[in-house]
Amino acid sequence: MSQIFNFCAGPAMLPCEVMEKAQAEFVNWQGTGSSVMELSHRSKEFMAVAAKAEADLRDLMAIPDNYSVLFCHGGGRGQFSAVPLNLLPKGKTADYIISGSWSKAAASEAGKYGEIKYIDVVTKVEGETHVLSSKEWGLNPNAAFVHYCPNETVDGIEMFDIPETNGVPLIADMSSTILSHEIDVTKFGLIYAGAQKNIGPSGLTIVIVRNDLLGHAQLATPSIINYQVLAENDSMYNTPPTYAWYLAGLVFEWLKAVGGVAGIQKINKQKAEILYSYIDNSEFYQNHIEPKFRSLMNVPFWLTDETLNTEFLKQAEAQGLMALKGHRIVGGMRASIYNAMPLAGIQALVAFMKDFSAENSK
Ligand SMILES: *Cc1c(COP(=O)(O)O)cnc(C)c1O
Repeated sequence: MSQIFNFCAGPAMLPCEVMEKAQAEFVNWQGTGSSVMELSHRSKEFMAVAAKAEADLRDLMAIPDNYSVLFCHGGGRGQFSAVPLNLLPKGKTADYIISGSWSKAAASEAGKYGEIKYIDVVTKVEGETHVLSSKEWGLNPNAAFVHYCPNETVDGIEMFDIPETNGVPLIADMSSTILSHEIDVTKFGLIYAGAQKNIGPSGLTIVIVRNDLLGHAQLATPSIINYQVLAENDSMYNTPPTYAWYLAGLVFEWLKAVGGVAGIQKINKQKAEILYSYIDNSEFYQNHIEPKFRSLMNVPFWLTDETLNTEFLKQAEAQGLMALKGHRIVGGMRASIYNAMPLAGIQALVAFMKDFSAENSK
């Protein structure tokens, strides 16, 4: 069988080198005679693994000292509850920017814990999806925070400009874009990301939070998602997802070895450019998002003749191009091309798309 390229939106493919390293030390980690997953989270060995992963992430993202990095349970959706519970005190409101299905889901969950305002920012301009600039959002200067999702995994919409919130803490769900390109962490109050797209396996969620935002949680906030409790206990208030933490650490090491975020950003841009420019130059495939707002990580596209969808997916899979089916909400196709997707995967996909279009054009 030829090489498999997995375009799944999440859990997504991991770098092969990382899995091979994990496999090699699976049963006997560094001569301990134990697997990492059998070590106490409080053992000196695991604490070293944990600290190294955090230090590497801080290095990769240039996270300043006045931010805590938390390794949590509960996925991206867990943070949909944790953010308002920790940051939305009674009597205050929060602005939720709606740019697609994940930001909408975050807002809908947050509404359980306090008063929030929905702000729709996506419009159509001459048939193309356009995102309003943050100056046009009409943000509330007294809001407890502004929440947004810079990369909408389902819709394929990405906002590269960091919104101006004039001092109101900016909270970002970066589940599908973290570590894909350089960002200035100091512009954010809090960044969170489920691991299963660009960090490691599912079961781990990273939270990067500015320390002045700790300690404001609603009384009923469960301790296991209380940022202050997690920060004070080095994310070990309860047993953390140790094996996922270890694997995330291996991914961070891999990323540093391939040139860090700046290095992967160049490759990510190249990958996305090849795919979008092929789509744009073909009558057979389409993507209607304004180029400025096209995701580097999740590329949705549609066959002009949708009756060919099933056949497209069948033939793609036969060639080792897996999980290209679009999200059920938007239909069509979606190629998720996170950091671990090599350039060769994009080249194989475009070659297949060309062949398929040639064979099926009348
Ligand atoms: C995948 C994803 C989530 C959900 O993550 P879970 O870990 O499944 O809860 C949330 N937000 C965004 C932007 C995502 O891509």
